[in-house]
Amino acid sequence: MSTQQLPVVVIGAGPVGLAVATHLVERGIEPLVLETGSRAGAAVREWSHVRLFSTWGEVVDPAAEKLLAPTGWTRPDPATYPTGGDWAEQYLQPLADALGDRVRTGATVTGVSRTGRDRIVDADREQQPFVVHVEYADGREQRVFARAVIDASGTWATAGPAGGSGLPALGERAAADRITYRVPDLKDPAVRARYAGKRTAVIGSGASAFTALAYLAELAESEGGTGTHAVWILRRGISGSTFGGGTADQLPARGALGLAAKAAVDKGHADAVTGFRTEAFERDRDGRLVLVGEDGRRLDPVDEVIVLTGFRPDLSFLDELRLGLDERLQAPLALAPLIDPNQHSCGTVYPHGHRELSHPEQGVYLVGMKSYGRAPTFLAMTGYEQVRSVAAAIAGDLESADRVELTLPETGVCGGAGLFDTPDAQQTEGGGCCAVLQQRFVS
Ligand SMILES: Cc1cc2nc3c(=O)[nH]c(=O)nc-3n(C[C@H](O)[C@H](O)[C@H](O)COP(=O)(O)OP(=O)(O)OC[C@H]3O[C@@H](n4cnc5c(N)ncnc54)[C@H](O)[C@@H]3O)c2cc1C
Repeated sequence: MSTQQLPVVVIGAGPVGLAVATHLVERGIEPLVLETGSRAGAAVREWSHVRLFSTWGEVVDPAAEKLLAPTGWTRPDPATYPTGGDWAEQYLQPLADALGDRVRTGATVTGVSRTGRDRIVDADREQQPFVVHVEYADGREQRVFARAVIDASGTWATAGPAGGSGLPALGERAAADRITYRVPDLKDPAVRARYAGKRTAVIGSGASAFTALAYLAELAESEGGTGTHAVWILRRGISGSTFGGGTADQLPARGALGLAAKAAVDKGHADAVTGFRTEAFERDRDGRLVLVGEDGRRLDPVDEVIVLTGFRPDLSFLDELRLGLDERLQAPLALAPLIDPNQHSCGTVYPHGHRELSHPEQGVYLVGMKSYGRAPTFLAMTGYEQVRSVAAAIAGDLESADRVELTLPETGVCGGAGLFDTPDAQQTEGGGCCAVLQQRFVS
């Protein structure tokens, strides 16, 4: 069998993996989607209680909509906001069903290489098909051969630690009984009981941290003064941009998350501790956790800690491939400068595709959430545009692959130091580097 007749292996049946499979089918190329979870959208289902800040209209891929139309699929109202659970049930599952046995669940990709060529070997490398090692839920292992490999496996499984240096803080692993790395579902009575009346530290400064603070404030209000309280731990100081772009955000629901977090602080449901880099977790006599900062500060004990410091890509199963990744973000080299939070935080990355996503190893692409490496501003609509271009490139349609077809909404917070630590980090609204980027690519 020639390499061209082999399937394109797609790793992950999340929104972006399923979208790329759809685009490939549209072009007459057979995808094989390998998904570690027992159902499509396994990662999204884990945050099924969180409402998206994007509308339905922004999280349904146009090609997928076309594939679904003849199946009797009912398109959700594009102006409304789904939860993660809605996204999985009302869109991802029907899409996976429409793709049929091209989607295999319970199939974990454990390694990808060139057949018979480890990372070092040059000889005839590009002529060899890819070999993908798969481990099934029942323990079986298999080798699958592929003409190209598209890694859409996301970053959900590899959350960042609490430690201010990017390493787990001392004692962090031993404190696992009181730490979670997810926004808790406070509608679940058991989870609610865990946080009600408790003092909880929330570490992080992105949309997920805002959501957790807002949830805890709601809990405090509904419990009516039984002691539910949050301590918000920030590596930087509080500035005009700490709470995101607010009403300047072109995605209003994303802006509203920051405003809800601000309200939690203003109403006294959360105290902000700024310029704090967690170095260690210690226990008090009651087993509660004491956060110790790199500057020696010791905070009053907390019952629970919610760590929301972002995600990282798992690159371990791609180790035999020759990837070109940026040393800061672990994102593809050409994409990284466009999304680097050291430079800008607007979210105005210009639409990009196969060229920015290619690697020294031809035929391999990291797409979706994983393509952003550690950068925090990924949007599903960015991923859909990425995979439209990548599928076109694999099909040899470079004209379409190179076309730019998307304008991304700004966060309303622009300027340097988008994430980081300088307590007095300067940020501007609606200008700075991102304005330059826009001018460059809109014209
Ligand atoms: C809480 C939260 C809220 C968000 N809200 C929004 C929003 O409102 N708007 C927006 O545009 N974006 C939002 N995002 C960002 C982004 O759009 C989503 O994370 C989206 O799910 C990314 O899609 P993906 O397909 O790249 O990755 P994922 O959805 O993470 O899918 C990856 C899939 O790969 C599977 N997988 C992982 N490893 C392997 C392996 N080794 N082998 C086989 N399968 C594997 C996983 O099980 C998973 O199903 C949000 C993200 C989070 C976490």
